[in-house]
Amino acid sequence: MQRRKVTFKLYPNAEQEKRLEAWVRLHCELYNAALQERIEAYRKAGKSISYYEQQNVLPEIKMARPEFLELGSHALQQTLRRLDLAFQAFFRRVKAGQTPGFPRFKSSKRFSGFCYPDPAGWKLMQNGKRGATLRIGSGFQALTLRARGRHRFGDTARPNDLTIMRRNGSWFASVTLRVPEAACARERADDRHRGIDFGVTDWATFDNGETIENPRWVRTELPKLAELQRQRARKRKGSLRYKRLSKRVARLHERIANLRRDFIHKETTKLVRTCAVIATEELTPKNMSRSAKGTVETPGRCVRQKAGLNREILSAAFGLAHQVISYKAVEAGTRLHLANTRQLKPSQRCARCWEIVPKTLAQRVHVCPHCGHTMQRDQNSASVVLIDAHTPGTGVAARPKASPHRRRKPRSATRETHTTTATAV
Ligand SMILES: [Zn+2]
Repeated sequence: MQRRKVTFKLYPNAEQEKRLEAWVRLHCELYNAALQERIEAYRKAGKSISYYEQQNVLPEIKMARPEFLELGSHALQQTLRRLDLAFQAFFRRVKAGQTPGFPRFKSSKRFSGFCYPDPAGWKLMQNGKRGATLRIGSGFQALTLRARGRHRFGDTARPNDLTIMRRNGSWFASVTLRVPEAACARERADDRHRGIDFGVTDWATFDNGETIENPRWVRTELPKLAELQRQRARKRKGSLRYKRLSKRVARLHERIANLRRDFIHKETTKLVRTCAVIATEELTPKNMSRSAKGTVETPGRCVRQKAGLNREILSAAFGLAHQVISYKAVEAGTRLHLANTRQLKPSQRCARCWEIVPKTLAQRVHVCPHCGHTMQRDQNSASVVLIDAHTPGTGVAARPKASPHRRRKPRSATRETHTTTATAV
């Protein structure tokens, strides 16, 4: 069994939204009350209250406040557990000598949502092509919400838990599914071997010279974000205009995140569908922030801040891409080869004679003084990682014949995913 998380967007009507908001307020009230109880018990009696002591009071609370009844006992327990986790994290960090903040009282506006830790008390139904229905509670009091989203796992997937979240005024339901291995598998249409160099000028460059351009949001949305943040910096903190701009910044951040996720999911799916072997560099912060210099096409004010912003957001995109590509590779039975950057130095190595050819970031073309090999920089490094993928261990055999004075190739210390066989769904 595998765990997969699927998020559905909810479309509550006005009345349903009021109910959801009331529920979030109640969960928040419980959280704050439990926090208060812990603080007071410690102040007055020097005693710390455990999660279980608080859990055992829940029935009494429900007797006194019947509005808590429809929230479901497991969901209420989960909110108490959330507070307990906050305390555990706090004490862990104190022990480690750090200076963490004490768990805070939360305003219900900031309280993100609540969670049903098991499949009881709610039901998700997928119907039609994109639609879904989420029912929370039972009987005539049940809340039946329209939802949009879809998972590809079919009827064999079993729901495990549900989180209801509110983000920037929209509601989402995030469901964890337990999926049998067979239902996770992806079909593969081709068995290509490809080396990829992820970069900032182009999002990806392949060993055959093909490229995937940076998506639209890098060119259009990031400058917008920078402009909004500049505007906000001129407002008095906490003022109405500051808040208004903050809301717009938050929404734009979310939009960029959505565009980025969409782009990465589509491209990585295409990749694993067509490749039997994918070779790329291991992911380290250094590779991610590499050559961010080339991103700013329009010189002018705040170039450095903008470069920083681009770098930060793009590096998040590489992080996500690696994460997504590694689980999709397993699902499709594609071998993902992650070359050790430090040892292999793909951007400095010649793909034909395997010599190290030092380059600065500004040098976009690889010209080898040893064998005369000339190639676009990123394409060369994509070729190098692909060769590395074909040479297990020291694997000299698969490497192309080179000039006689070549150095011994360093041991290829690489991490690899398991090769699995894809089964068609
Ligand atoms: Zn060379």
